Amino acid sequence: MKTYKIAAIPGDGIGTEVVSAGVEVLAALAKREGSFQFEIDHFDWGGEYYKKHGCMMPENGRSLIHGHDAILFGSAGHPEIPDHITLWGLRLAICQPFDQYANVRPTRVLPGIISPLRSVQHKELDWVIVRENSEGEYAGVGGRVHQGSALEAATDVAMFTRAGVERIMRFAFNLARSRPRKLLTVVTKSNAQRHAMVMWDEIAAEVAPEFNDVTWDKMLVDAMTMRMVMRPQTIDTVVATNLHADILSDLAAALAGSLGIAPTANLNPERNFPSMFEPIHGSAFDIMGKGIANPIGTFWSTVMMLEHLGEKPAGERLMKAIERVTADKRFHTPDLGGKAKTAEVTAAVIDPSMAPISDGVRNGLLHALYLGNYPVVIVVGAGGFVGVRTDVAAAWCAFVADPVDRILRHQTDQDRQTVLKFDSIGSLFGIIVVLHAIRFCQKNTRS
Ligand code: ATP
Repeated sequence: MKTYKIAAIPGDGIGTEVVSAGVEVLAALAKREGSFQFEIDHFDWGGEYYKKHGCMMPENGRSLIHGHDAILFGSAGHPEIPDHITLWGLRLAICQPFDQYANVRPTRVLPGIISPLRSVQHKELDWVIVRENSEGEYAGVGGRVHQGSALEAATDVAMFTRAGVERIMRFAFNLARSRPRKLLTVVTKSNAQRHAMVMWDEIAAEVAPEFNDVTWDKMLVDAMTMRMVMRPQTIDTVVATNLHADILSDLAAALAGSLGIAPTANLNPERNFPSMFEPIHGSAFDIMGKGIANPIGTFWSTVMMLEHLGEKPAGERLMKAIERVTADKRFHTPDLGGKAKTAEVTAAVIDPSMAPISDGVRNGLLHALYLGNYPVVIVVGAGGFVGVRTDVAAAWCAFVADPVDRILRHQTDQDRQTVLKFDSIGSLFGIIVVLHAIRFCQKNTRS
């Protein structure tokens, strides 16, 4: 059996809560799939480690994780430690030397989630933001002199290299090409920044002819914020610099419903180093320890990890499970206006029997309507009310209408067997309801 070695670095704040939920989901998924397993090594690096050792990770930290297949990261940030120390000491200390230059951030309004944008349902907002992740404004070039004196000076130089820009442009064009709309927006600020950003634009134009099937346009970053809010349906794939995409992707996450949902992949596309997967959100100390952190961003990041590992079908199944859960408001955490706990959302994603009632009833109703068989509707409705597993109710209807596989195509053999077992209980229940309904009708007709 294939074994994937994963380095889990929960980091700080809610990072510990969401990463442990992510690890739980991965373990359950591997068990269900049966064709691969995970070997997870946990690393306690972060703010607390810094308080003990004076550094966010040990000096040989990178060599400890270099051999892993992927990294699952939580967040870096501690209220008692300046942000630039936590960020540069951990996240960037991994991203940059491991050359994870493509930071990929999909944004979608998942089922059951309401976008703050009035006109957006689902398909109007389906973006992927590609963030240049190795240079630009976060290259670390700069310095500070004469500290504390009136002559104090500081610089942060945004450094762009031709090689760095070319590779991120090619990556973004390729990604745009792989998506149905084949549409790319290159975000820039070349009106005000007349050196590096002009080179950025020129390189985009040079690379574009290699991708004749991709339609692309150019947009100033300030205008892009407006377009994201006013005309979200005109956007598909976006490429932007380290700083620009950092800001735009937080806006994107908020427009898709919550920062707690959005995922990230820090990719080293050449696979010379492990890639790192993390939710977009940070440590969120305001909700730490309350058990209410939304783990969906981490789960979605593990979907991206599965794709990167070559386990695309498993990733798709997990994404389906995530969407089933977001569709049910019972599993919305407070950031989405609900009351659910991290643990409840995690359990719902892991256990297919927690499939939302609405899903089961909807499927059941559809099949029942297809049959024109009203008692089936009663069974499904009643099944929902008395708490019979809704996927069982749906499966029962599917069993009548169509092969069970059709409705349960995203579940495994083991699930199907369980459903079929419960299916007979569902059928029995259905027969009793139908018999009662017939007797009731006969009695009323006689009287
Ligand atoms: P950092 O400084 O580490 O980047 P932060 O604490 O400034 O992080 P974020 O984590 O980026 O802020 O999030 C901002 C706010 O959004 C948080 O204070 C929190 O209330 C909310 N939030 C973020 N992530 C989640 C989540 N997964 N679940 C619920 N709420 C979240």
